[in-house]
This record gives sequence, C-alpha cells and structure tokens, in this order.
Amino acid sequence: MDKKVRVRFAPSPTGPLHIGGVRTALYNYLFAKQHQGDFILRIEDTDSQRFVPGAEEYIQETFDWLGLEFDESPKKGGQYGPYRQSERKDIYRQYVWQLLEKGKAYIAFDTPEELEKKRKEIPNFQYDASTRNRMRNSLSLSKEETQALLDSHSQYVVRIKIEPGIDITVDDLIRGKVTINSSVLDDKVIYKSADELPTYHLANVVDDHLMQITHVIRGEEWLPSAPLHVWLYKSFGWEDSMPQFAHLPLLLKPEGSGKLSKRDGDRLGFPVFPLQWKDPKTGEIFSGYRESGYLPEAVINFLALLGWNPGTEQEIFSLEELIGAFSFERCSKSGARFDYEKARWFNHKYILATPDEKIAAMFMPVLKEKNIPASRDYVTRVVGLVKDRVSFVKELWDQSSYFFVAPTVYDEKTVRKRWKAETPDQMRELIGILEKMDDFSAENQEKVIMKWIQDNGYHLGNVMNAFRLALVGEGKGPHIFDITVLLGKEETISRLKKAIETIPTPHV
Ligand code: GLU
Repeated sequence: MDKKVRVRFAPSPTGPLHIGGVRTALYNYLFAKQHQGDFILRIEDTDSQRFVPGAEEYIQETFDWLGLEFDESPKKGGQYGPYRQSERKDIYRQYVWQLLEKGKAYIAFDTPEELEKKRKEIPNFQYDASTRNRMRNSLSLSKEETQALLDSHSQYVVRIKIEPGIDITVDDLIRGKVTINSSVLDDKVIYKSADELPTYHLANVVDDHLMQITHVIRGEEWLPSAPLHVWLYKSFGWEDSMPQFAHLPLLLKPEGSGKLSKRDGDRLGFPVFPLQWKDPKTGEIFSGYRESGYLPEAVINFLALLGWNPGTEQEIFSLEELIGAFSFERCSKSGARFDYEKARWFNHKYILATPDEKIAAMFMPVLKEKNIPASRDYVTRVVGLVKDRVSFVKELWDQSSYFFVAPTVYDEKTVRKRWKAETPDQMRELIGILEKMDDFSAENQEKVIMKWIQDNGYHLGNVMNAFRLALVGEGKGPHIFDITVLLGKEETISRLKKAIETIPTPHV
C-alpha cells in the first residue's frame, strides 16, 4: 500500500449508537492503527428529519469512554473538514452540478402523486432506463421546458443516470468480488431541491473521495448500496482513487437467527448500547454497557471477537494486541451471534486483570452512597480478597459487606449445621487464644488455632465454620485468616462475642 491508510466511521445521528456500530468503528480503528493510518469521524446528518438532538454528543462520548481516539472529527477538526455533512452543503451542490454537466445525472420533476400513479400503472415499476423516458425529467422534456420549470421554481430532484447492461464489480476485502448488472439498479435520487441537500449516497461518496478515504469498512447492511457507490465513483471519473470496501458481518440475536435489535436487549436483560441513553422525546431510558458496570477494555475485547477471530485459542487481547492481530481474512462472512454471557465473562477477566487500587477507586463511590466510611487502602485489600467472585464492580458489595459492617443476622442453614451445643464454649476458648496472641499474622493464627483444635480433638469443620459464621454471618467468603487479618484482632473478637450472645445454643 503506497497511500496512507485513511478510514472513517460515518454514523448518522438518528439516536443512540447501536453496539454493532461500535464494533464497526472498532474494526476501522484497528485497521487504521495497524497501518499507521488515520481514523476519522464523519457525522452523516443530511437527513434533517431523522436528526436527534444529543446523538452526536453521545457518539463522541462513547469513543472518549472506550479510549478510541479519532485523528479527525467535528470536535477535533482536521485538514479535510468540516466533518459534519450538514456543514458541507455547498460542496455537494458543486459535485451534483458536475454530474449534471457530464450527462451522468439528470433533473426530475415528477411529483410524489405522479410517481405513485406510475407505480400503480406499471408492474414492478423502477425509475430507470426502461421507464425514464415516460417520466417528467430533463431527458424526456425539451431543454426549454426544463428551463421553464426551473425558472418557475418547481421542486425537483437530481437522479443518477444508470446505463443498463453493464457489470459492476464491488471488490470486497471480506466477501471477495461481488458482481451485479447495472440493469437491476434504479436511478437513485442524489439531490433534492426541497431542502437543498444531497442524499446519503452522493454525500457519502463525495466525502470519501475528498477526505481521501482508502478503505470503507462498514456494516453488511450497506453492501446493497456499494454497486451504486462504485457507479458514482466511475461517473465522477474517480475510479483510480476508489476506496477498498469491507462489509462486516451482521450481529445476530443470541439465539443465532435474525439481526440483533434493541428489543433483544430488553427481552434478555442486557444492553445493546454503549452508554445509557434517554430518548429526548419519550423520556424512555435505554441501558448502556458503561452504566451496567462494564470496563471499556472488556467491551473492546468482546466486540473485537464478534465477527473476527485470531485463528488461535487466545481470547484475552489488549488493544495493542488487537491492532497487531486484526485482519480482514479472519473476518467471517456470515453473521456473528451476540453471546451476551461471554460479555460478562470478559468483564470478569478484566476485573481480575485490573489492579486492585483501580477497582477500589470504582468501588469507593458505591460505599460512599451507602455511607460506609473506609480508607482507600482498606478497600483495596478487600477488593483483592473478593474480586475473583464478581463480574461487575457493583457485585462487590454483596461479596464484601461483612468487611464493612458486622453481621447482625446469621444464615439459618449454617447455624443449624455448624452451631452445636459445644460451640459457644469453644468460641469462648478461641477468644481467649486470640486475646493472648501477639503475632496476628495469618500464618501464626493458623498455626496456633489448628494446634488448639487438634490438641482438644475438636471437629475441625464445625469449629472453623462457626468461626466464619461469627465473622461473615454465613458460610461464604475467602480464606478465614485473610478475613481476620483484615478485620483485626479487636473486631474479630467482638464479632465472636456478638455471635455467642445472639445465636441461640441448641439443646442437646
Ligand atoms: N451514514 C451511514 C450509517 O449511518 C454510513 C454508512 C457508511 O459507512 O458508508 O451507517
């Protein structure tokens, strides 16, 4: 490749960005960075009727959160700007006129009613070479008639003129060469006088050309548009600088058939949007990965493997590793099943891999909300002991609350199983041993307590589980001497006393 790689992510701000769009952007990013290229954000907002306030900000915030930085964007600027299509109207008009002058496009005056009438008259009506001379346009009307209509400010559209019977080949990096015959295409509208705006197809192609995009990497749903885009490139005489296409596989429902939709998320209880979104009109809230407690690194890793595979067993990839390993050859042609359980698994792995201090910093606000005073250092040590039991930061509280508040109730089942008639006396003895202990390290506690149990012929399981019950309130938790060390001698003893007082002694 001699040209510098330049790719763009080109969302339309019509609502919250779908998680599939995030995957498209990620693949663009990985490919660009692999080739020391540029990753550009272009906002395709020419359809003013579908514009949703806040959607562009949402997109920018998503990538800020994920740490995928654009080299050029509406926010950052760049030498090929503006990066919002609504600010490029004059540019498009110029190119529409260029096509008209070259005879590659024409002006059409048909009203919606006229079009409707033709659709009824002609079976499988399509505005193309076979029908255009029966319509009201600059090809069927005389020069004078056309000019008169323009002078009288009649509304019109500009249509691309597709010549029939020509093979159009889209060279796709994932799908290979896809050839269709131009006869199946219609003369698509590329510009509307009503809002003085180009349609998606024209703006998209003109911008890709002007922004010197080398690779168009986008969702499979755009594959049907690709032949028209190729045709537009040729009509402009830009075939030499035509970008390479790569159409990514669809994201499928967790069950494996059909496209993943917002409704699947609601139905199965997982987010299909990167960030939480509040619909500005209805006030409806859509959950996001960020708010659900996902780490951005986990989301990136999870998405990278939806439609691409490394060809090895490796599943955990840093962003740097993904940049190195990504390739179109290993992107699948068929849809990728959205395995939500896998997302949780990735988050768990990333919680484990993230330093305890960092997880503690995320956990601190949860504690603060519960009015639990705790030092950062203490929380860090708690996190270290329990994080292997959680997939999300918010689950830490359930696994660690006893480190912050002494139990007041005791799990009945464990009580029944472990709190025997002799237990209170044994716990009193244990208090005596702990009180005398100078070295409160886990090793020393273990040594001394084990010896005491052995010397007295006590039931190891019952004694240790009663001890745990007094500290935790139930039979779970990490290694018991890790708990006592963290709680400290005083708190450990006080919890034993409280348990003796509270748990009724069973009758023999
Ligand atoms: N604006 C289109 C979208 O919303 C862009 C498609 C493309 O990347 O060409 O996805």
